[in-house]
Amino acid sequence: MNDDLKLRLIDATAAVIRDNAERLTELDQAIGDGDHGINMKRGFEAIAAERDALARLAWPQALHKAGMALVMKVGGASGPLYGSLLMQMGKAADEELGSIGDLATCLGAGIEAVKQRGKSSTGQKTMLDVLVPVQQTLQQAAGNGAELAAAIAAARRAADEGQAAAKEMVATKGRASYLGERSKGHDDPGATSSRLLVHTVCDVLEGAR
Ligand code: ADP
Ligand code: MG
Repeated sequence: MNDDLKLRLIDATAAVIRDNAERLTELDQAIGDGDHGINMKRGFEAIAAERDALARLAWPQALHKAGMALVMKVGGASGPLYGSLLMQMGKAADEELGSIGDLATCLGAGIEAVKQRGKSSTGQKTMLDVLVPVQQTLQQAAGNGAELAAAIAAARRAADEGQAAAKEMVATKGRASYLGERSKGHDDPGATSSRLLVHTVCDVLEGAR
């Protein structure tokens, strides 16, 4: 059952990145160096190449190994950042990862690693502007004893709102920061990939993929 969930997560995330790689690259052409789609595709294909081995591992090892693949295979800033996210989520995960609260704790630890590695925080027009509100929403849902379906719906909304908010921000981290004020009004590539990934994980958890 858990193996199957891991396989579905790996396949669905690789597919959404593959299907949106061109768009992610276009967004990065506007405010960065035009490689975000290529970077993400390379990284998630590296994870997909190990799908069977990964699915046999428990959550801590599987997440850590997937994160390592991103760090090793991706040149851009996003590889080490998403890689740190997954590796630290692996360190924080328990074998079960069986509740919204567990997921929130685990994602929270991953986000701390991104902040540390990126020397970044929310409000700087990055992936963190999606990941942090999603994590906070999950934490809140867990605290309120929300049903899985309600927590998932709230996480999707938080991801959408985070991406929309990031669009209106002035970038102060990463390559987009070189544009200063001119970065405003453009979607952030990393916030966009994070939103896509959050939606995909939500779909998988609902059994829709
Ligand atoms: P690069 O910037 O090296 O070309 P990518 O294009 O793959 O790498 O990724 C760019 C994305 O990475 C940005 O859109 C942003 O969301 C995210 N990012 C860049 N720097 C940071 C940082 N210091 N902290 C958090 N996220 C960052
Ligand atoms: Mg780039």
